[in-house]
Amino acid sequence: MIRNAMCAQMDEHLENIDCGEQQLCQQCGLCCNGTLFGFVRLSDEDVMHIETHISDIVIQDRNRSFKQPCRYYQEKSCAVYSSWRPSACSTFECNLLIRYRQKKISFAEAANAIEEAVGRVEHLRNVLSTASGDNQIALSKLFDEYVALYSSPDQSLILEYGVLQFRLKRDFRKYDDTRNVEDAENAEEG
Ligand code: SF4
Ligand code: SF4
Repeated sequence: MIRNAMCAQMDEHLENIDCGEQQLCQQCGLCCNGTLFGFVRLSDEDVMHIETHISDIVIQDRNRSFKQPCRYYQEKSCAVYSSWRPSACSTFECNLLIRYRQKKISFAEAANAIEEAVGRVEHLRNVLSTASGDNQIALSKLFDEYVALYSSPDQSLILEYGVLQFRLKRDFRKYDDTRNVEDAENAEEG
């Protein structure tokens, strides 16, 4: 997931990461803040590490995951980036980052896509959290709660949410990521 910015602070964890990618991630955060994912999935090694070294993460036992927005996403960076991250985080790359690295899109195009998506997410979160009273849950959950709360939900908001999901899928997700989000949402409700 997110590549921490601050190229000047590169260490052995960051030396192979392009500065442009770090800058894009620092402007984005969509894979950590509960927009692209509702959960961070955990491997056996992750669970072992958490149980041994970390006391403040609640593992969702059935799904072996913890919820997003991630508690370690702070000031547009991953607070545990250089010490430990779940393997799902250290191996994840969004489609936008891959296309930028492959020079299929320019830095400006990638930055524009991020700016637009982040703007849409912020606007939706502001409106939906006013209705729900809680902004510390995944965007999809926030939307579900909003729809469940009103018998006649605002159609323009529903359209706006649909447009955002289309853009996220087109610009950031790969097929498997979409599957993971659906799995996580279904599993949480089950
Ligand atoms: S969604 Fe992509 S660009 Fe955004 S923070 Fe995650 S890896 Fe970086
Ligand atoms: S641990 Fe770091 S990389 Fe992983 S979701 Fe949290 S903030 Fe993002």
